[in-house]
Amino acid sequence: MSASVIDGNALAARVRGELAVRATALAARGVQPCLAVILVGNDPASAVYVRNKMAACEKAGIRSLKLEYPGDIDPVVVMAKLAELNADASVHGILVQLPLPSRFDEGAVLEAISVAKDVDGFHAENVGRLSQGQDAFSPCTPHGVMKMFEAAQLRLAGAEVVVIGRSNIVGKPMAMLLINAGATVTICHSRTRDLAFHTRRADIVVAAVGKPRFLTADMVKPGAAVIDVGINRLPDGKLCGDVDFAAVSEVAGLITPVPGGVGPMTIAMLLENTVIAAERVAREAGQ
Ligand code: NAP
Repeated sequence: MSASVIDGNALAARVRGELAVRATALAARGVQPCLAVILVGNDPASAVYVRNKMAACEKAGIRSLKLEYPGDIDPVVVMAKLAELNADASVHGILVQLPLPSRFDEGAVLEAISVAKDVDGFHAENVGRLSQGQDAFSPCTPHGVMKMFEAAQLRLAGAEVVVIGRSNIVGKPMAMLLINAGATVTICHSRTRDLAFHTRRADIVVAAVGKPRFLTADMVKPGAAVIDVGINRLPDGKLCGDVDFAAVSEVAGLITPVPGGVGPMTIAMLLENTVIAAERVAREAGQ
């Protein structure tokens, strides 16, 4: 069998195109969507992520502001900037690029972002709302995976889904979104006793582990959908996911590649959340 591949680049381009239309409509009503990004320190990967997010904003007609601080900045300064951005009516979304230097209380920083501008969906109130099945900003990566399911017309209600990974940014919110969609979800992690037992009976596997080619063909049920969230840098500099793509493609029915899978969808969902935040502001202002 050779699995169908979900093209994340193409899907993300389509979503970004639709968002550009919505951003233009908002601008015509006097509200230009705006995302503020805070970057602390000089982690090269974070700098690349921020650059990519800002470039995507620009292409979609979303204004973006970058606020950069040296790694030794006093956290009080960043908290004060967050308060300022929260109060700034022209800013609709606020993102703090993670990880922060260890001196920072990451949780406290994320809590300091206004819930209405929390386009990354990491504020405890948004996490709580998501877990209660209420309207909330969903974290961008699992939200992007849900869009991929929708595009592939995968039936989630009643599906057996295994999520590998229990992080706050991917695994846990992924499981919440799937539960809300009616799937039967098993979350696996490093303490799971027999991972393959779980993955082999899954209709859908979402791998968010951070280990190259971790999910092998013998761990996948024939015809299953396999979503690869992992982004791993190999010694030769190439990117690879958590799934052994070549071998698993021979067993799975549907698969996402790395690069060109979940990654582009993550950025598209950040833009979507920013446009939604701006649309709410415009609606509330009667614009
Ligand atoms: P993380 O916080 O390091 O979490 C990794 C998870 O994998 C943990 O829950 C860990 O279990 C579990 N794990 C580790 N070894 C395992 C094993 N042998 N068996 C089963 N589970 C195991 O990572 P993350 O932030 O969730 O990210 C996961 C991957 O996705 C990374 O490659 C990251 O770069 C990538 N990512 C991609 C995007 C995107 O846009 N495509 C966005 C975010 C992250 P424990 O909890 O027990 O330690």
